[in-house]
Amino acid sequence: MTSAEGILEATGDTNGRLYRAACPACRARFDLSAAALRLAIGGSRKTTFYSFTCPECGESVRKPAGERIVELLTEGGVSTLRLHSAL
Ligand SMILES: [Zn+2]
Repeated sequence: MTSAEGILEATGDTNGRLYRAACPACRARFDLSAAALRLAIGGSRKTTFYSFTCPECGESVRKPAGERIVELLTEGGVSTLRLHSAL
């Protein structure tokens, strides 16, 4: 398992999937439901990321999402924003 893409891992089954994440600010570890996460898919790896708010310290955390993470999140029903680079 590489950790280069972040610390997210999925637990639970498809009916009640939880995503384990850790906060880089306060180092708390917690399980987040799909509703607590957001995914943004951009045109490149750099603009594809997931984000959540740490339930412990309130920090807004944003991490790059690789293909596997995108798959896990979309499967679990995380709301997904598709970014269009119209620049
Ligand atoms: Zn925190």
